[in-house]
Amino acid sequence: MRIEFFGVRGTAPTAPRRGSVYGGHTPCALVRTSAGTDFIVDAGTGLVSLAKSPAFSRRTSLRILHILLTHFHFDHVSGLPFFPEIFRAGADLRFYSSGPAAALRRRLEEFMTGPYFPVEFKATPSRKSFGRVGRRPASVGGAKVSSHPLHHPQGCAAFRIEENGRSVVFATDTEHGPGGADEGLAAFARGTDALIYDATFTPAEYAAGRKGWGHSTWAAGVELARAAGAARLVLSHFNPDHSDAKLGRLEDAARRRFPRSLFAREGLILRLER
Ligand SMILES: [Zn+2]
Ligand SMILES: [Zn+2]
Repeated sequence: MRIEFFGVRGTAPTAPRRGSVYGGHTPCALVRTSAGTDFIVDAGTGLVSLAKSPAFSRRTSLRILHILLTHFHFDHVSGLPFFPEIFRAGADLRFYSSGPAAALRRRLEEFMTGPYFPVEFKATPSRKSFGRVGRRPASVGGAKVSSHPLHHPQGCAAFRIEENGRSVVFATDTEHGPGGADEGLAAFARGTDALIYDATFTPAEYAAGRKGWGHSTWAAGVELARAAGAARLVLSHFNPDHSDAKLGRLEDAARRRFPRSLFAREGLILRLER
């Protein structure tokens, strides 16, 4: 399994200076299984650069794309109208969320429509289907995919993708509980090879008035990774106000507590080999 990150910024895209270490696009990652199935997790502005990436553009003959949407906040869907595959007649786009398929379809149609965008989602030529990924693992493209509800305003789903003895868990937008690690999420992420987790706030910012905002910290991520027995912790969904220098310091702090942790960045590729 190979995971490539195209957007790791939360809330709003930033306009990074040239050479930004972490990048400014909002969440989007490409998960390619060892069998060659492509999953896109979230359709933030990083989706625009995913479409131009070598890993993706070499695969234009590949028709089927499985697109998992954690939720519908702007930072997780705003790349969708700018994704060229939507406009390609040969593309077979299979969208999933943790809710009913009809609601997923309706939300995307309501999001990509006039007067917000000049082309209607439902009028685009790609083939589209809509499905639900529930808590019980379902077979999607030869992988097992499941979801778990997170603590986030209006809801958000964590997704777990397992294939060929390897797994990844995306928990992009969530708030830890007052007692530390979220036990339900730890159980969902048990033994995963890569736990991708919300590090929007520093612990100090969180304590100073950000409780209840539905986001977490790198330190809570460390607690969760330990509770889950995750092999690796990948922190993400960075605050648009956090500079590269600040994120670098936070990354060092996370590594001191949990050596197998890193901060995601645009262009980061994780290979989970057997
Ligand atoms: Zn978000
Ligand atoms: Zn959100």
